Amino acid sequence: MKSVLVVEDNPVNLALMEQLMLMKGYEVRSAEDAAAALREIRARLPDLVMMDLQLPGTDGFALTRMLREDPALADLCIVAVSAYAMRTDEERALAAGCDGFVPKPVDLQHLSRVIEDCLARRQAVGLATSATPRQGGA
Ligand code: MN
Repeated sequence: MKSVLVVEDNPVNLALMEQLMLMKGYEVRSAEDAAAALREIRARLPDLVMMDLQLPGTDGFALTRMLREDPALADLCIVAVSAYAMRTDEERALAAGCDGFVPKPVDLQHLSRVIEDCLARRQAVGLATSATPRQGGA
């Protein structure tokens, strides 16, 4: 089972995102700020982080940059989630090291597509650096 850490400070948005990720079959954990997110990630590395960009204190952009500085987290998928569906937010999120961007209110189909793209891309990076190449599927 894949695991996700939902980083979100708004309880209503957190409950919604937790429901969506449970529906997608993920084991779900949550963090309401950057410090809690770092604790959770260091305690047990998830496959995926859903990153709210607007957080109190250290925001999602800065937290993503911190995570990307750690080579041990190279396989970690980070998908940005933002209330401001602005072009600049998406560009800033990707520049900070996010793999994808989902605007709020979250559309489940769009969310699923972004997550699948991110997981596939990270897996490809992992395979490229791994000693055992994967066989192509028929
Ligand atoms: Mn927020």
